[in-house]
Formats: sequence, C-alpha cells, structure tokens
Amino acid sequence: MRVAIAGAGLAGLSCAKYLVDAGYTPIVLERRDVLGGLVAAWKDEDGDWYETGLHVFFGAYPNMLQLFKELGIEDRLQWKEHTLIFNQPEKPGTYSRFDVPDIPAPINVITSILRNNDMLTWEQKIRFAIGLLPAIVRGQKYVENMDKYSLLEWLRRQGVDERVNSDIFIAASKALTFINPDEVSATVPLTALNRFLRERYGSKVAFLDGSPTERLCQPMVDYISDRGGEVRLNAPLKEILLNENGTVKGFLLRGLDGAPDEVLTADLYVSAMSVDPLKVMLPQPWKEIDFFKKLEGLEGVPVINLHLWFDRKLSDIDQLLFSRSPLLSVYADMSNTCREYANRDRSMLELVLAPAQDWISKSEEDILAATMAELEKLFPMHFGGDNPAKLLKYRVVKTPRSVYKATPGRQACRPSQKTPIANFYLAGSYTMQEFLGSMEGAVLSGKLAANAIASDYSPKIVSDTQVSGETQLAIG
Ligand SMILES: Cc1cc2nc3c(=O)[nH]c(=O)nc-3n(C[C@H](O)[C@H](O)[C@H](O)COP(=O)(O)OP(=O)(O)OC[C@H]3O[C@@H](n4cnc5c(N)ncnc54)[C@H](O)[C@@H]3O)c2cc1C
Repeated sequence: MRVAIAGAGLAGLSCAKYLVDAGYTPIVLERRDVLGGLVAAWKDEDGDWYETGLHVFFGAYPNMLQLFKELGIEDRLQWKEHTLIFNQPEKPGTYSRFDVPDIPAPINVITSILRNNDMLTWEQKIRFAIGLLPAIVRGQKYVENMDKYSLLEWLRRQGVDERVNSDIFIAASKALTFINPDEVSATVPLTALNRFLRERYGSKVAFLDGSPTERLCQPMVDYISDRGGEVRLNAPLKEILLNENGTVKGFLLRGLDGAPDEVLTADLYVSAMSVDPLKVMLPQPWKEIDFFKKLEGLEGVPVINLHLWFDRKLSDIDQLLFSRSPLLSVYADMSNTCREYANRDRSMLELVLAPAQDWISKSEEDILAATMAELEKLFPMHFGGDNPAKLLKYRVVKTPRSVYKATPGRQACRPSQKTPIANFYLAGSYTMQEFLGSMEGAVLSGKLAANAIASDYSPKIVSDTQVSGETQLAIG
C-alpha cells in the first residue's frame, strides 16, 4: 500500500519509518530543499552549522530514544551531567545548579531542589512542594484538567510564592514553549515536571553530536529508502484533491522552476505539515467538520535562534543553560556541547530568544544589538574591560510560526492522528499525544499515525508506543 506523507519534519519521517517497518510504501513530500522542518540546519560558507533551533533531548523521551536505537545511532547522543544550571542575573557571571544525584526518582529531583539554596529559601521550597502535591499524587489526569489555567494562575491557586515563578518557572516556561507563565497553560510545565519526578534520568539532557539534519534526519531517510520508501525534497503540497465522497483523491504538488504541477496518488494520505499550513490547505468541505474546525484554535508561536561566534573561549560549561534573562531563554556554548561544532579556542553560543512576538519583525541588527546588551549584563567579565570578547560573525534564524502556542484551552483543540476522513491521517507535534510540542511529541505522533493506519488497514501493529524509557534504556 502506498502512503503519501506531506512534510519531512520529525513527525513525517517517523510516520514513514514506522510504515516501512509494517510493510507499507511511504512517499514523503517536503516543501523545502532541507530535511527536518523545525530541526533543519544549514552550513555557512565557512563550513559552520546554523540551526532553526537549539535542540536538546531528555531522558524522558522514550519514543525518541527507542528510534535512535532502532536506527543504530544511539552513540550520536552526547549525554551530559545530570544537572540543571541557571544564570544568576543578580550576581552576574555566576550560576546556580540543581545537581540531580544518581538515586531513584523522585528522591533524586527532590534532593536536587532541597540542596539548592541560591534560588529558593526553605519556606519557598516547602510551599512549592505542597503546591505540587496534587500534580504528583493525582497524576496526568489532574495535569490535563489544569489546562484551564495559565501557569501563573495555577501557581497562585496553589499558594506558591511569586519568587518561585520568577526564578524557576519563567525559565522553564520559556524553554518549553517560548512563552511566559502568564500565557502558558499549566498543563505544559506540569507534564514535564511529572515526567522528571517519575523517571530517574527523565531530566538528564543530551545534545546530538552534529546537525539534526545530517545526524538524525538523514539516517531516517536512508532507513526508509533502503526498505522501498521514498523522501522527496522540493515537493510542496499545493492542494488536497477530493473525491465526490469527500475522501482524498490525490495530492497536487506545485511544480517548481517552471515545471508543471503534478498529481500524486496513493492509497492513503497523511499531513505531517505543521498546523498553520494545514489550516490554509484544508479543502472547503472539510472546513465544515467539527474535527477540523477545532484546528482554528491552534497556531504556531514565533521564536528566534541566534548563533554567535566569538574570538575566544567564554566558558567551559558543557551543558544547557537557563539564562533567566527577560530577552533570552536557554542557550549553550556549542563549542563545548556538540562534537561536530567543537572548538578548543573559540566559543559559539547558540541562544533562543523568547518570547519573540515583539522581535520577530525586527531587523537582524536590532536583534543582535539587544542580545549583545543582554550578554554584557550576564557576563560583564567577558564584554567589559580593556580587551572585551569580539564577535567574529553571527546568524539569526527567525521562525514566525514554530510549535503550537500552548495557551490555556489548547488541549481540546489538538486533533487525534485518525481523522473523520477514511483515507487521511495527521501527524505533527501539535496533534494529540502526551509529549506536547517537542521532538519526542513529533516522533510519537508519527508513530501513532502509522499505528492508526495499520490498525485500520491491516491487523499488524507497527510498534509499541513507549510511556517510560527507564526500563528499556541505559543512559550513560
Ligand atoms: C527554536 C526551537 C527550539 C526547540 N528546542 C527543542 C528542544 O530542545 N527539544 C525538543 O524536544 N523540541 C524542541 N523544539 C520543538 C521541535 O523542534 C518540534 O516540536 C518538532 O521538530 C516538530 O516536528 P514536526 O514534524 O511536528 O513539525 P515541523 O518540524 O514543523 O515539520 C513540518 C514539515 O512540513 C513541511 N511543510 C509545510 N508545508 C508543506 C507543504 N505545503 N508541502 C510539503 N511540506 C510542507 C515543513 O517544511 C516541515 O518540514 C524546538 C523548536 C524550535 C523552533
């Protein structure tokens, strides 16, 4: 059976991977000339990589880790020390760490919180712990129900100190969703926290050893192609063509560089596009169906990824850092964290600017100037004095619509992978799965779409979805 899949982000590639495993023939059609969607990366004229986003993998990503294993590329994940590191803007140039000891969950995470005295007083820790109790005791169902509140509203209802919000949750909320706690649904950080509290290595972080396009997406393409599937770049879906009964008749692909449009037919069809292009492309008759109407409640959130190459080493920290800056979110010195970007003499900082609503339409020069001003505040020792660090070059990658904006009430808008149209399925991190708008969510959504197809059109189940990685994977 041929399955046409629009979109070669992680969701589309994962869907194709699990379909070939089950004996289907997927044809993945990607609009751009690069694999990966939100994980896409490019090489500049000097051979240096720049990316759509600074990406890290967590121990609590069971489906992603299983995929690495199935592709035989587990050694490409560079696991870091089990710690979360925050900048202390009130003491420039210093860091506060939550070191997670190698003991069972949740004692490990709780110990790391109790041991940290820079960011929380004992009273705040106790109130924070009491506030979190319902989420821990009542589990994911409670967490899902909290989608009616913003994180800030939820923290206030739980009586958690305002300082916990400003110190920890602003950083977490910006890192997970690119928006602030007054906007983000309480479900999102609570879901992440629940996972971190349940799994011994859940909050342990890994970096890929090179660009996601080459080191993760390409092996997926090779796997798919070796087993009879196909992945086509520069193949934009222009229109979903319908039969009289409302099912899909074909994908109309836009011809590029003067080539005519092409109709591609298959037995089944999947959209693995992000939600914004899908909404634009919905055929008129489908717009009347409640299932698709709900998509109106979802839209991508803007975010900006910056790369700054300096003339010297600024730090030897081999880890993701939470900046706690109003302008920036997480960042890393990629010359330390990633094998292929390694440099002993010079730092390359990759930084996420979020929330980016007010910055997305500004010039690259303005964005750079604001970022440098922020770095000067965080690290006066590198940028002040007689011999300040020099910026050698930079890249700014803007994404006006990235993952779905996870404001309160969005859970009800997220569609299942199976749709009311008999031969049409959805994949994408915005579709309903428990890992939110993440790489893990994208991979899981692709697997769920493949499973839905296999259960509708053949009794063979594609692959078990994983709810916990602990038992399967030893994380080094
Ligand atoms: C700055 C940034 C940092 C991030 N950091 C992390 C992180 O640290 N950890 C983490 O887990 N997640 C992170 N994410 C989120 C993660 O990247 C996404 O959740 C995931 O990659 C989404 O994959 P997807 O396949 O669902 O969607 P997408 O990646 O958006 O893929 C959709 C694909 O469809 C294609 N497409 C669109 N229209 C058409 C068309 N008409 N025809 C054909 N193809 C089309 C697009 O070009 C794209 O390739 C980050 C995202 C960003 C932007």
